[in-house]
Amino acid sequence: MPVIIAGNDAQQKKYLGRMTEEPLMCAYCVTEPGAGSDVAGIMTRAVRKGDDYVINGQKMWITNGGKANWYFLLARTEADPKCPASKAFTGFIVDADTPGVQPGRKELNMGQRCSDTRGITFENVVVPKENVLIGEGAGFKIAMGAFDKTRPPVAAGATGLAQRALDEATKYALERKTFGRLIAEHQAVSFILAEMAMKVELARLAYQRSAWEVDLGHRNTYYASIAKAFAGDIANQCASDAVQIFGGNGFNSEYPVEKLMRDAKNYQIYEGTAQIQRLIISREHLGKYKQ
Ligand SMILES: Cc1cc2nc3c(=O)[nH]c(=O)nc-3n(C[C@H](O)[C@H](O)[C@H](O)COP(=O)(O)OP(=O)(O)OC[C@H]3O[C@@H](n4cnc5c(N)ncnc54)[C@H](O)[C@@H]3O)c2cc1C
Repeated sequence: MPVIIAGNDAQQKKYLGRMTEEPLMCAYCVTEPGAGSDVAGIMTRAVRKGDDYVINGQKMWITNGGKANWYFLLARTEADPKCPASKAFTGFIVDADTPGVQPGRKELNMGQRCSDTRGITFENVVVPKENVLIGEGAGFKIAMGAFDKTRPPVAAGATGLAQRALDEATKYALERKTFGRLIAEHQAVSFILAEMAMKVELARLAYQRSAWEVDLGHRNTYYASIAKAFAGDIANQCASDAVQIFGGNGFNSEYPVEKLMRDAKNYQIYEGTAQIQRLIISREHLGKYKQ
């Protein structure tokens, strides 16, 4: 996404072009062991040497970290700690086979285990100045701006998980009998399904609204955060409700819903945590009233 929103023609042709020719992966390298939500706290440094930059630092939790063909990487280019974030960081495209790029082991996560998540060390990695996005100092805005476009599809993923939880729970409630009737015929169970259905429908509307704003060319920060926060939360609620409807079977890995509950958790963490989304929503909301 940073290359889609900020790459020049040559960068887009070279790095996006190859992805249309073969099924390649890329990755977004911003988070570090010491800084996730507080992006301005990242320590990776890029120092200009002639026509190149030399990058040193460590990234963490990088999705596709070991599979990517190239990375978007955010590094600090300004040594002065007083420099504002809007000028202190630069966004680079880094080919994964550049000497000094060292992906770590695949992390063993609670859920979403097919996803390849790794720490990556960058040791004296030389990147040509042609691989700078927009220009030195523009990186923070690019890294943050990408979220407006990536949060709607992440919210769509969370909504899909919630829909699956509803589908599985509904099928089970129409098969399982207690006290001589289907559990779906106990109002307490059917009302859980009704609550799940309400949440799924509203999460779907929220991500579609946030994506529609992109199509209209509007700034969608507010809607993207609402969609991501709401869908992330209801994915967790629906997965947990599905486990409840499955009873003891829900707690067991032979049935599908325990995996959904594990997978759901990350939707409240990556792409900005549930708390960071609320920070953004409240800032955007109050901003409208203060104008
Ligand atoms: C599986 C997985 C894949 C990921 N993929 C990527 C990736 O591809 N690229 C990438 O760059 N990153 C990736 N991340 C990193 C992810 O974006 C961060 O983990 C996330 O932003 C949170 O940062 P943190 O882990 O450092 O937690 P912290 O920032 O340390 O936060 C810890 C807790 O404090 C809360 N908190 C922090 N600041 C505030 C505040 N101001 N107000 C209220 N609460 C606050 C947080 O909400 C959280 O609950 C991934 C993470 C995971 C787990």
